[in-house]
Amino acid sequence: MSDTTSAQRFPPHTVVDAADCLICRLESVDGEAIVFRDELWSCELPTGYEVPGWFFLRVRRHALGWQELTPDELDSLGQHLKDLTGAVAEATGALATYSMNFGESYAHFHVLVAARGEDVPAERRGGNIVNLRAERLDRAGALTLVPLVRSAYRAALAGR
Ligand SMILES: [Zn+2]
Repeated sequence: MSDTTSAQRFPPHTVVDAADCLICRLESVDGEAIVFRDELWSCELPTGYEVPGWFFLRVRRHALGWQELTPDELDSLGQHLKDLTGAVAEATGALATYSMNFGESYAHFHVLVAARGEDVPAERRGGNIVNLRAERLDRAGALTLVPLVRSAYRAALAGR
């Protein structure tokens, strides 16, 4: 499948070019914002979406949507999501931890992992949690959680 054909699978406003890709740019964030990286996957605080308890799990290459993930990427995604949601739950104390894949703003495959704490009101739970981006951006607060999630994530790996 050519890049052009691939890009046509997305709505006109969706960013599909690597040159404009916010998800690719996460590759160059400071270490303080990184939870983990391996050859295929990475997890960081999402630049511009720094709500405390929110993280992006992203495939490291500019792959568009589920359709462009390789078998190796697909095979490792589930374990990463299990470990990461567990680490976020442990670090934040949230009883609910959401995993959401939209891919409409940026087609580069990524999953928003979001802790839903007791402080989140009923009208902001479930899919409505995305509205917290406009209400609770707090980079400093989000950064304080990174070392905690990183430690919990490493402990999950060590415990396997
Ligand atoms: Zn990208």
